[in-house]
Amino acid sequence: MSSPLAQGLLGERVSARQLIAVLDDHDLIGLRDGTPVLGEGGYLAESPWSFNGKTDFIELALITDVLRMLMPASDATAPEVSSYSLKHTAEWFLRPHCSYVSNGRLIWAAAALGLRLAAPDEAGSNLLVGVSERGHDYVRRMVSPGGSRPQADHYRPAGFTHLQTALAKATAGESATARWVQPTPVDQTAPFHDWLIRQVDRDDIISDLASDYAAGIRLSHHRIAHTPDELLAIFHEISHSPEAYDSVVSAIAEWMRTVPSAAPVRTERTGGDAHGHEGWGAGAGTIERVEYRCPCGDGEIIEEHDNVPGFREHDVRLDCDRCRVEWRFVDGRDVRNWGLEPVVGRVTV
Ligand SMILES: [Zn+2]
Repeated sequence: MSSPLAQGLLGERVSARQLIAVLDDHDLIGLRDGTPVLGEGGYLAESPWSFNGKTDFIELALITDVLRMLMPASDATAPEVSSYSLKHTAEWFLRPHCSYVSNGRLIWAAAALGLRLAAPDEAGSNLLVGVSERGHDYVRRMVSPGGSRPQADHYRPAGFTHLQTALAKATAGESATARWVQPTPVDQTAPFHDWLIRQVDRDDIISDLASDYAAGIRLSHHRIAHTPDELLAIFHEISHSPEAYDSVVSAIAEWMRTVPSAAPVRTERTGGDAHGHEGWGAGAGTIERVEYRCPCGDGEIIEEHDNVPGFREHDVRLDCDRCRVEWRFVDGRDVRNWGLEPVVGRVTV
């Protein structure tokens, strides 16, 4: 019990007394008429516990830390993650500190931690555990051999990196990391993201885009688009059909009509340079050029600043035949602050 791994890496360490009390008194997995309900194989499993008396407690403490990292599901959600699936995730995550995690120990640790448990009909030996389904899916895919790795981290549990680091340090024989402080949740509102998700139920190309986008978020294939700019950037990062671009433009056009105060679109900077110019007889100056990707990605937006005495000009233009038809610069902004909006009437139903 003196092992650093048994001290609770993400919170108070679970005590032996807590663990024993759960096997006696828990509503679902405590003794029933004096008979154990939980065994090594899980709920109502015949298999007795097989303790070795050496690493049992450390292993239970580590399993508790994995479950703690996964965070409780909201009370509004019924427990939905199978203990059997969780036991594999815990096993992969804890390797090599814990090479085998039994179904029974996973359920035991979950109960000791106070996570909600449910026995579905036909439960067999597996119970459903009230941890975040999204968070678990993320962790499982990060640690499972041959899993498809998440490409974005919006579902990464807050304690994931700390626990991984702490275990890696223990493996290397280094002393423990500083105590983990759970970050205060930041209220990150994302009105554009929320709006786009809500378009799933319509019946047009915007709903097709919204469905693809929602699936991409759910499966962590890409990050959250807080703004139309981010949606365009994500769109260029992932594979898509050529037609899909039309739905992106339509969605942005509708968003900007729905929310007139929405910021115009800016795109990613791709290059540029500045060089001195000897001038036209009234002294030297500079010529600066900045390049951005055009919205469709096939051309450029070019910003030019001539700062030569007697010849000062600031100009921005769309160097793309397609985008010149589909986008226009918002009036009243200075050149360095250019912003684009879709040409009105672009919305296709
Ligand atoms: Zn273009």
